[in-house]
Amino acid sequence: MKNCPECHQPRLGEQFKCPKCDVFYSKLDELLFEEQQKKEQNSLKGRLKVVLAAADHKQAMREEFKRAWKNTPLKTKITLWSIFAFIFVLVF
Ligand SMILES: [Zn+2]
Repeated sequence: MKNCPECHQPRLGEQFKCPKCDVFYSKLDELLFEEQQKKEQNSLKGRLKVVLAAADHKQAMREEFKRAWKNTPLKTKITLWSIFAFIFVLVF
């Protein structure tokens, strides 16, 4: 859609929403917007933004590590532990 469904103002650039009414230009724009939000939230930059925006950086960082660890597949975890154990054995 080239115009806002609410105020019928022409669309500005690559905006998904009408800046005046905060309404999506079309259903597709809404989907694209959500997709973009999701991508940004899951990207490292997005996560970093969350940490930096938090009042308590340390707490936010801890939460992020917990989240990242939870999202790590079991196989990767086992591999990481094996590497860790191997280095431990080598050092001591
Ligand atoms: Zn509008």
